Amino acid sequence: MNRVYAAVEAGGSKFRCAIGSGPDNIIEEIIIPTAGPEDTLGQAADFFRRWEGLPRLSQLPGDPRRGKRSREGVTRELAALGIASFGPVDLRPHSPTYGHTTSTPKPGWAGTDIAGFFADALNVSVGFDTDVNGAAMGEARWGAGQGRDNILYLTVGTGIGGGALSGGRPVHGLMHPEMGHLRVPHDRTRDPFPGCCPYHGDCLEGLACGPAIEKRWGRPGAELADRDEVWDLEAEYLAAGIVNMVLVLSPEIVIIGGGVMGNEGLLPRVRRRAEELLGRYIAVEPLLSRMEEYIVPPGLGDRSGIAGAFVLAARALGDRGI
Ligand code: ZN
Repeated sequence: MNRVYAAVEAGGSKFRCAIGSGPDNIIEEIIIPTAGPEDTLGQAADFFRRWEGLPRLSQLPGDPRRGKRSREGVTRELAALGIASFGPVDLRPHSPTYGHTTSTPKPGWAGTDIAGFFADALNVSVGFDTDVNGAAMGEARWGAGQGRDNILYLTVGTGIGGGALSGGRPVHGLMHPEMGHLRVPHDRTRDPFPGCCPYHGDCLEGLACGPAIEKRWGRPGAELADRDEVWDLEAEYLAAGIVNMVLVLSPEIVIIGGGVMGNEGLLPRVRRRAEELLGRYIAVEPLLSRMEEYIVPPGLGDRSGIAGAFVLAARALGDRGI
């Protein structure tokens, strides 16, 4: 192994931290339940510092920006760190709040300087992006998107988020895409549920995330496995959202992960409905008749995000080969 990287998948419920060079080459890994920012980030930094042979942050007398001075002399060093983070986050490179969370409703986390914290605590270059852009990068390098530069990654779970690579680069702009909050047709006769997004009510996330299923039907999705009407409606919303994303971004493949997709029959329903909604307008394979090759589950299972964090670490050093 040449360079050793630090990778962080920063989630709303847990932080996964790994040391290595990719999902198949992990030296050490821990999962930290997400609590307040100081506690969670401190534990993550201590995990990496311990591996490097440096004192824990809490044991340092002053400013952690003291460079690398280990107890026995530095023998191991992390080349860079990548973070695939929950959001929303500020990704504008010249913004004074680059690398910070912005308006997250997660208690205590709004305005947290995640990238800056790790850069200071570990004295390394930091690559930073959203969890879903990270997952798209991980899938492109090691998973279902290998060999493709234009990828859409969607997660459907507690919330709905979408990340995309265009020409091999994660899509950024004024901020980052927020595809979970797309508007999709909502027939209130068929589905009187008003939606549960605190910002928009019946956006895609408000209608189709895991909590929306539970609120609408009175039970979590896992207990509704045999109810066709539940999954037909879910597929209706997801397919509508995906079709809109496909028409805008023109991805070569759509990768969908997240807990809600654990329902066995859901993915085939989504493919079927997306095909109907597209109406054979885009006459390009596999979109025309091989939808099972176009809308697919993640090749890395639940490890797309941490894989993406390794790619982000490598890219922080300008290494696009990882
Ligand atoms: Zn919304």
